Parts: sequence; C-alpha cells; structure tokens
Amino acid sequence: MSRCLSERGIDHVVLERGEVANSWRTERWDSLRLLTPNWQSRLPGYAYEGDDPDGFRTMPETIVFISRYARVIDAPVETHTRVTSLTRADAGYFLATDRGEWRSRSVVLATGACNIARVPACADRVPATIDTLTPMQFRNPDQLAPGGVLVVGASATGIQLAHEIHRSGRRVTLSVGEHIRAPRVYRGKDIQWWMEHSGVHHERYDAVDDIARARGVPSMQLVGSPERMTLDLNALSGTGVKLVGRLAEIRDGRALFSGSLRNQCALSDLKMNRLLDTIDQWAAQSGLDSEVEPPSRLEATHVEDAPPLGLDLASGEIKTILWATGYRPDYSWLHVPVLDRKGHIRHDGGITPSPGLYLMGMQFLRRRKSALIDGAGDDARDLSAHLASYLSHPPQH
Ligand SMILES: Cc1cc2nc3c(=O)[nH]c(=O)nc-3n(C[C@H](O)[C@H](O)[C@H](O)COP(=O)(O)OP(=O)(O)OC[C@H]3O[C@@H](n4cnc5c(N)ncnc54)[C@H](O)[C@@H]3O)c2cc1C
Repeated sequence: MSRCLSERGIDHVVLERGEVANSWRTERWDSLRLLTPNWQSRLPGYAYEGDDPDGFRTMPETIVFISRYARVIDAPVETHTRVTSLTRADAGYFLATDRGEWRSRSVVLATGACNIARVPACADRVPATIDTLTPMQFRNPDQLAPGGVLVVGASATGIQLAHEIHRSGRRVTLSVGEHIRAPRVYRGKDIQWWMEHSGVHHERYDAVDDIARARGVPSMQLVGSPERMTLDLNALSGTGVKLVGRLAEIRDGRALFSGSLRNQCALSDLKMNRLLDTIDQWAAQSGLDSEVEPPSRLEATHVEDAPPLGLDLASGEIKTILWATGYRPDYSWLHVPVLDRKGHIRHDGGITPSPGLYLMGMQFLRRRKSALIDGAGDDARDLSAHLASYLSHPPQH
C-alpha cells in the first residue's frame, strides 16, 4: 500500500509497532518456511530474482525479502510505534501511539489477520499437570516437556507442527476438524502454480456465492519443504501420528472428540478432488494436457475403524497440548464503530463503512489470494485508487 500511495504522490506514513516484517521476526516457529513458492511472493514493482523460483523461503529469508522491499520503495516507516487507539476526528482520524499522536484524513488498517492465536473455550479445563501453548509461543520441540503431545487443529500450522514434534521422538495425537487437503505437486507442477494460472487465486469476493463462508475456510494443508513433500493426514498417520476427531470438550480431565472424523476426511477429499477437476478442465481448455503429467488422484484419507472418542488427560500420556486452532486479528485499539457482532470489521472488499478507513490483509478481502503476500499488491492497487478518489472528493459534512 505504501508503494501504491507513493506512486500516486499521496503523503503517508507507515506505523509499525516492531521492526519491518515484525510478524515473521517474532511470531513464527524456527523451522517454518513459506508454503508459497519463491516466484509467488510478488509485491508491486518487486519479484523474486534468484535461481530457485520453486523453492520455499525460510523465515530469515522472508525477513530479508520484506525488509529489502521497504528499503527499495523507500517506505516511510516509523518503527517501534504502536497504535494504541484509533478514533474518528474532524474530517479524518486521530491515532494515539506510544510515540506521540497522529492525525490523518485516511487510514489503512494493515495490522494483519493473525495477531492472536485462537484457543477454544475448553482450554480453561485442561488439567494443571499439562503444559499448553500456541503456535505463536512454539519455536521448536526442545521447548516441550518429554512425553506425548496433543496437537489440536489440522490445517497448515497443525500438520506442520504435528510432523515436526513427531520427528522429535514424541508420541503425537492430532485432533482433526474441518480441513482443506491438497497435494503439494500436481501433474508435475506446484499446486500454487495451478491455482494462480487457472484463475482460482484471482476469484473475486463479489463473485462467490457465500463470501462469509469463504472468508472462514481454514488454510490448506500445505508445507514448504525442499523435498516438495505432500503433508496430508495419510502422510502423518503413515509415520505414526494418531488421528482423532475434532476436540469437542474437556470434561472431568478427559478430552472428548467428535465422532465426525471419517466424514470430515471424506468431505475434505471431495473438495480436493473438485479443485483438481477444476484444474484439469482448465488444463484441457488451455491445451496444456500434452505438456504436463496426466491427471491423477490421491488415495482417500485413511481413517481407522473406530477412532477414540476420548483421551484421559490425567493418565500422564499427554504432557503438552498445542492449540493450532487458528488466529484472529486484534482490534482492541480500534474505536471506530465498524465491527460487527462477531468482532469482524464490516467492509466491502476492504472499503469500510467509515469514510476514508480501509482494510487489508484479510482472507478473501477482494480475491481468494488476499491473505497471501502475493495478494497484497492487487488489493493495494484497487484500494489506493479508491483512497485517492476519496481524498480528492471528501464527503461534505
Ligand atoms: C504461520 C503463518 C504462516 C504463513 N505462511 C504464509 C506463506 O507461506 N505465504 C504467504 O503468502 N502468506 C503466509 N501467511 C500469511 C501472511 O501472514 C500474510 O501473507 C502476510 O503476512 C500478510 O501481511 P500483512 O502485512 O497484512 O500482515 P502482517 O505480516 O501480520 O503485518 C502486520 C503488521 O502490523 C503490525 N501491527 C499490528 N498491530 C499494530 C499496532 N497496533 N500498531 C502498530 N503496528 C501494528 C505488526 O507488528 C505487523 O508487522 C502465513 C501466516 C501465518 C500466521
């Protein structure tokens, strides 16, 4: 957004509570690599120029990538400046920060979709003998007490951490709710390549049937690894990770799991195959069939006949619970009346009902790819155009 505002000659400042790329510096685990290939993280006027376009950046590489962009575009960033309150003021907004006050005619909320790790309400009932932590606190398995680990949540974060913790020699139980399965490589190309070129990533928010639902869909089960590994539930259970259903409750020291594991997996397989059908259709229409490998389908997800519906948390088998149950934004500092009753910002493709206030970085904000690094550019182009027009034609008071 800063780059797009500069291109339009709009005077602006970027307030950042930490350093540039703060989330990647402070909120991610050590082994994490981007699950999007190098070629895919494009920002306005900036793209990957190295010799490994299909590789996956480590965290240090991601931090360098974003920090370098800030320098290349000469972004006017005020680091170590935390916004503590945003309110409406005459003809604009008033921002209180821990380094002084700012007034502005327009504000873009780009504080991220993943500020706080979500934890289910039943976390309060975990017996005191068990350690609990979130992915934001997890750095590597050495942090964990010896013994079994229950990982709750099987989307991108949960599957990666279950895999890593299992490889550290601990017994891992993975509680699986709704999830989106995908092969890393399909017909010889990365799944992200297919989603980009077939147009899936470009689908617009105003063209999907149920945008509220689309915005709540969990992340795809993907990992970025040098081996281009597909890390799905079959891969995990094949190495010994125990699969159980969605965590429904913790009562009297027992974790209770839903009986829907088989259905959840069948639904996820069905949705994956629908995505692959879309890709196959597009490949055929685009004349790619002779250039890429033939269509194929993964084996259905294996689920044991009677997965356990309960786990005694007092038995000593589980020493740690890791909540990989998603993230949410933090709007505790936002005092402009734009939140709905669920605490989400009301917006139309990033344009909030409060004139001059914009939102970025949310899932399916304007396009399916909006919450990816690669999605920011197109959204910023659109929203900066709206913002420029707002500044030249402010509403009459
Ligand atoms: C575990 C994980 C893995 C991911 N992997 C990928 C991936 O592989 N590929 C990909 O494309 N995307 C990935 N994403 C999504 C990724 O977070 C987004 O693509 C991208 O970071 C969004 O950028 P952003 O600037 O909107 O948000 P963020 O990167 O979260 O940046 C928000 C910034 O706002 C600052 N901030 C917040 N509140 C305040 C405040 N009150 N005052 C001042 N500053 C504030 C934060 O410090 C932060 O620097 C991942 C997300 C997570 C959580």
